[in-house]
Amino acid sequence: MDSVERQLWRYVAAQWKPLVIAILCAVGVTAITGFTAYLLEQVIQSMDMRDTAALNRVSLTVIAVFALKWFFAYGQVYYLALAGQRLTAKLREDIFAHLQRLPLGFFQSRQVGAIQSILTNDVPILQSAVPLIRDVLDAPLRIVAFLVYIYVLNWRLALLATLFLPLVALLIQRLGRQVHRITHQTQGALASVSALVQETLAGMRIVKSFAAEEREIARFAGRNREVLRHSLRGERRRARLRPTVEFIGATSIALVLWFGGQEVARGHMTTAQLLSFLFLLHQIAQAAAGVGAIQLTHKQVRAAAQRIFNEALAIDPEPYDAPSAQPLPPLRGHVQYERVSFRYPTGEQALREVSFEIQPGEVVALVGHSGAGKSTLVDLLLRFYSPQEGTIRIDGYDIQQVKLASLRSQIGVVPQQTVLFVGTIAENIAYGKPDATREEIERAARLAHAHEFIERLPEGYDTLVGDKGIRLSGGEAQRIAIARALLRNPRILILDEATAALDPLTERYIQQVIEEGRGIRTTLIIAHRWSTVQIADRILVLERGRLVEQGTHAELLAREGVYAKLYRAALLEPVN
Ligand code: ADP
Repeated sequence: MDSVERQLWRYVAAQWKPLVIAILCAVGVTAITGFTAYLLEQVIQSMDMRDTAALNRVSLTVIAVFALKWFFAYGQVYYLALAGQRLTAKLREDIFAHLQRLPLGFFQSRQVGAIQSILTNDVPILQSAVPLIRDVLDAPLRIVAFLVYIYVLNWRLALLATLFLPLVALLIQRLGRQVHRITHQTQGALASVSALVQETLAGMRIVKSFAAEEREIARFAGRNREVLRHSLRGERRRARLRPTVEFIGATSIALVLWFGGQEVARGHMTTAQLLSFLFLLHQIAQAAAGVGAIQLTHKQVRAAAQRIFNEALAIDPEPYDAPSAQPLPPLRGHVQYERVSFRYPTGEQALREVSFEIQPGEVVALVGHSGAGKSTLVDLLLRFYSPQEGTIRIDGYDIQQVKLASLRSQIGVVPQQTVLFVGTIAENIAYGKPDATREEIERAARLAHAHEFIERLPEGYDTLVGDKGIRLSGGEAQRIAIARALLRNPRILILDEATAALDPLTERYIQQVIEEGRGIRTTLIIAHRWSTVQIADRILVLERGRLVEQGTHAELLAREGVYAKLYRAALLEPVN
């Protein structure tokens, strides 16, 4: 058993209770089916002998036995389904929980679409496969039990009938292997289709602005055809399997009738026994077909399980806290980078020996060309990534040595693009602290200069936003995002300024938020506006991952260095 199977069986074993009930029910069904063969023989015999009393008795027994079978049949189907549903529910939960713990970098890569495909395509495969666990145990049991029965009835006839079984088994195995290969290819192709959908939907703005819709449609159609081709090949193979098995079964039945008829004529068995024999043979053929289905599905399941366990659940989660990690005490907001260098897993050297210090309450703006390393510098403070060299300290604590949650919960972040979740305004503001009181929420909203416009909304703080709710303007949404960041009253605030133009009023409000925080919380701004830069106590200038200059606006202008050039190049944008 390899690691994929071990993991799969762990999930199966967790559902042992319903599975045991289902298997017991299956054994009951098999026993009753065997008994039915016996009853069939009795019915025909009593008809032959014109014994109406016996006929009455046997018919009543048939009804009683099938009433009993009803419960077993119900139990077997329901409890198997129960096990399957619970197993997959647990699996979905585990995959989702795992996704939540993956490092941010993962979500910027294209793997996300592939994982979604695993959730929507592979997990259901496992679910549909759970009922086969019964067949794994039940089909061999049925085959052996009924084989013994027919050999007892007439061994010569039984020998003739079972000559074909090995042939069937071989055929099934070959077809099964082909289906497995094709299923694997189909799933791969399907994942690439999902990835394409994800990619184009996320980049729709670009697709449209380059008028590339038709090209994307053609690209999609190409990949989609590929999926279709693989699927149809698999379907053809699958479709071939059952009739093949049936044909072989029918042939052996014809042979049995031919040879069995002669046995009856010779007086070696009764007609009733021959019919009972045929009934059992049919049961055996069905069970054998069941084994064939197991073979096929087993391969599909393996392929699905491989993707679930080796791809979705195998990606390393965010590095856990070191065992010695301590929770960070309430902060003052002193930040220190010491010779910090960072390279992305792709090899991109984003920061080189960056050192600086920020005093509590200071307002610092980061400027530099796009790609200079501003976002990376901030992401390191939040420990989205860890530097290969150097140390980052907050209030003297090396952030690698503290508990991640205690670090992130004390830093407020206003991202460049505001994401509002479906829910009320109040819920959106309280995202980082769901148990916040209305007073706390209002206080944060006031700090973010959002209170006035929220009050004017039809239902105030209880107004719905998101998909079904009202649409806020970019500036309003931004202020909600600021309120969200300020709710926990963080000592460190990171503001990634929107590159897109905001209305002048919003811009002024945001400046006020920054000014009002001066001396209270350390504010780090990825600045895209000269108006913001001018209210900063200090400006850090980054160029190609290096910190090349720092100082106030006036100092840096006088230096006539990188900053002055950046500023002059952007002079077209008026400064107040
Ligand atoms: P800025 O915020 O100043 O525009 P970034 O910090 O985003 O700059 O980028 C710094 C460098 O790191 C750039 O060369 C960029 O291409 C690279 N980079 C940024 N994010 C990633 C990533 N997730 N994976 C690989 N390289 C990245």
